[in-house]
Amino acid sequence: MKAAVFHKPGDISYDTVPDPRIEEGGDVILRVTSTAICGSDLHILSGAVPQPTDMIMGHEFMGIVEEVGPAVKNLKKGDRVIVPFPIACGSCFFCNHGASPHCENSNYKHYGPNGDLADQKGAALFGYTDLYGGYSGGQAEYVRVPYADISPRKIPDNITDEQALFLTDIFPTGWSAIDWAQLKGGEVVAIFGSGPVGLMAQKAAWINGASRVIAIDPLDYRLERAKAVNKVDTLNPHKVDVVEAIREMTGGRGADVCVDAVGFEPERNILDKMKSTINFQKGSIKVMEACFKAVRRSGTVSIVGVYGSPYDNFPVHRMFDKGITIKQGQAPVLNYIDHLIDLVTQEKVVLDDIISHNLPLSDVAHAYKIFDEKQDDCVKVILKP
Ligand code: NAD
Ligand code: ZN
Repeated sequence: MKAAVFHKPGDISYDTVPDPRIEEGGDVILRVTSTAICGSDLHILSGAVPQPTDMIMGHEFMGIVEEVGPAVKNLKKGDRVIVPFPIACGSCFFCNHGASPHCENSNYKHYGPNGDLADQKGAALFGYTDLYGGYSGGQAEYVRVPYADISPRKIPDNITDEQALFLTDIFPTGWSAIDWAQLKGGEVVAIFGSGPVGLMAQKAAWINGASRVIAIDPLDYRLERAKAVNKVDTLNPHKVDVVEAIREMTGGRGADVCVDAVGFEPERNILDKMKSTINFQKGSIKVMEACFKAVRRSGTVSIVGVYGSPYDNFPVHRMFDKGITIKQGQAPVLNYIDHLIDLVTQEKVVLDDIISHNLPLSDVAHAYKIFDEKQDDCVKVILKP
């Protein structure tokens, strides 16, 4: 089959690879109909999240069940499903405690090179390096889906792939950021980063009762998209002091909730040599600090942007003084998925309005380039095998 294969930082190509096959009784093989590139995939592309060997990329995908393992009960050949990105066994301590991204059984390999994180095994993800289980991803014609009775969800035929695909990751991720803040209604929510995850958090903030949603991003074209599809206020940190602006907008108090939908962006030595664009994300740990400054006393900071390295100047004094609630991590997609599918099928939310590029999977190298370098007004790329 054909697939998007990571070889080394900066090098993802469209290759011929062996077809996946059923390995465990609970597996299905899915024929992928649509897949997307995530901001998290860029951490692998840059080398920030290391992968020592070739790997099929992709954790945002959906498709048609092609083959079913002997132990699978809930799915049959021909079912059309979305597949949430964490691989969960459904029966361990963490799966039973609403924390499927920490499943104890799915990451049975875990021979990741990152000594700092390797002391406690986390869950497995599709196409997300050996540290996260070494599973092949779904930016491919076919993908093996383990524990297929647990996470995959059938999607009604009248919902397009474009509307359903983001239920696998970015809509639940944006939703988590807002859910963690437990809005009561009327809150001001400031969302740093207006990429796909930030855009989804904006949608979730409105649905959960925010009275004002503020999008922050240095890229004007992304702020324009946010304004157009989500009717938010916008701030560009290259043009204004964002913390001051947010305080002004909230009577000096600060936002009730700040969301970090940017994450870390370490030095990109390898890629920097290969590309001409300015590395505007360098040092974006500043975003987390800005969240702690811009949030009101006793407010909540939700961090869904990924952080992959330690940081030694953490503003713990400000967090303590202001009594800030912090929640972060990978989205517990399974806690929300059925409700979010209902929102989509009942047309209470539109998800496909963030798609800027719909390309064949064979264009994957180009697709990564424009998404990574923010070229061609790229917001979200979906790929069709
Ligand atoms: P993206 O790279 O498209 O978006 C990041 C956005 O942040 C860009 O629009 C960029 O211009 C903006 N940005 C950069 N510096 C900024 C600053 N100083 N202030 C405000 N905005 C700034 O990626 P994405 O797909 O939207 O993902 C965002 C983050 O969420 C990534 O770190 C990704 O790994 C993470 N993520 C986490 C989960 C989870 O489960 N927690 C799931 C999916 C993605
Ligand atoms: Zn993702």
